[in-house]
Amino acid sequence: METVKMIYADNAATTKMSRRAIEAMLPYMADNFANPSSLHSAGQRAKDALEASRETIADCIGASPKEIYFTSGGSEADNQALLSAAAIGAKKGKKHIISTAFEHHAVIHTLEKLEKQGFEVELLDVHSHGNISAEQVAAAIREDTCLVSIMYANNEIGSVLPIADIGRVCRERGVIFHTDAVQAAGHLKINVAEEKIDMLSLSAHKFHGPKGIGVLYCRRGIPLTNLIEGGAQERGKRAGTENLPAIAGMAAALSDACDNLEKNAAKVSALRDRLIVGLSKIPHSALNGDPVNRLPGNVSFCFEGIEGESLLLLLDEVGIEASSGSACTSGSLDPSHVLLAIGRPHEVAHGSLRLSLSEENTDEDVDVMLREIPRVIEYLRGMSPLWQDKLVGKKEFVL
Ligand SMILES: *Cc1c(COP(=O)(O)O)cnc(C)c1O
Repeated sequence: METVKMIYADNAATTKMSRRAIEAMLPYMADNFANPSSLHSAGQRAKDALEASRETIADCIGASPKEIYFTSGGSEADNQALLSAAAIGAKKGKKHIISTAFEHHAVIHTLEKLEKQGFEVELLDVHSHGNISAEQVAAAIREDTCLVSIMYANNEIGSVLPIADIGRVCRERGVIFHTDAVQAAGHLKINVAEEKIDMLSLSAHKFHGPKGIGVLYCRRGIPLTNLIEGGAQERGKRAGTENLPAIAGMAAALSDACDNLEKNAAKVSALRDRLIVGLSKIPHSALNGDPVNRLPGNVSFCFEGIEGESLLLLLDEVGIEASSGSACTSGSLDPSHVLLAIGRPHEVAHGSLRLSLSEENTDEDVDVMLREIPRVIEYLRGMSPLWQDKLVGKKEFVL
């Protein structure tokens, strides 16, 4: 039997590690395995490598190395940022938090925890174009607001938010501003100083680095609350022996991504736009997310009369690895909170498809996707009794 060449279009879930990242990790797993806290010279060499990685990462986002804390990934960074800002707020009697309805679960679930502890969480509406405006943030800030947490770019529908404008508003009003930049880091130009970002989360495996490693950037002077108690690593804010191989891999991957950012974005967004134009021709379909301010690699659609899971299984059979909603929500039967937040009805939210591209994808990949996806959708609709009812007018079309 001939095996199908697989097209990987699920880069928002995770990316393939680059050769450079793998090669940057190897020395710290083999000969240079010492603990950066050890005082012997091998330990000090490990410490030097740790600090060199910190500097590389700080440079890529316009931060100072002292503002970079290594974590186990984006989720941990989000948790620590939110809980720290909440602790600072609680000390001053400020317990109002502003966020959006389409954040990642690492933010949403931490906010739910804070709500149970007596914080008031206000989620901004993302209906218009799957985005928000800085004016919405300005209007929501109150005397007792202790934190604004708004993602840099959405992982499901690809909208890129007006972060610099939101940063300005928050700085003027003296409110801590955190952004979950896990989808943006390595893909969009980020400068925490210029954009007036106080806290930022990023994760290596979304830009061709290893899994299980990330960064919390925290502006100097803002005290962090520990999630993990133990040794004095990360200036006492994150205990545990540093994962130096992963940290070195992350630094290599991020500096590679930042050096090639414009070139990669140009290539990937051209592939994205071909897909968007082509898939828009499918009847009763709709693009999700901001059509203009959009991640270079994100294509997200709802197709009426389709079950997302069936679509993914059939696409997998023809060699296309995609996703419906986000990787974290798949496996549950609830429709994505992101698609509901942008106003898609339940029925339509179930029929979503996310193709997330990287610079490894090609024009030929797009040719195959534009040939196979409409065919599979037509096939699935042909088998759906609900679709037949709509065709004969017994039920209304939504899209
Ligand atoms: C992937 C992702 C996370 C979680 O990062 P991990 O490193 O997998 O914990 C958080 N936020 C967004 C927007 C993401 O895409």
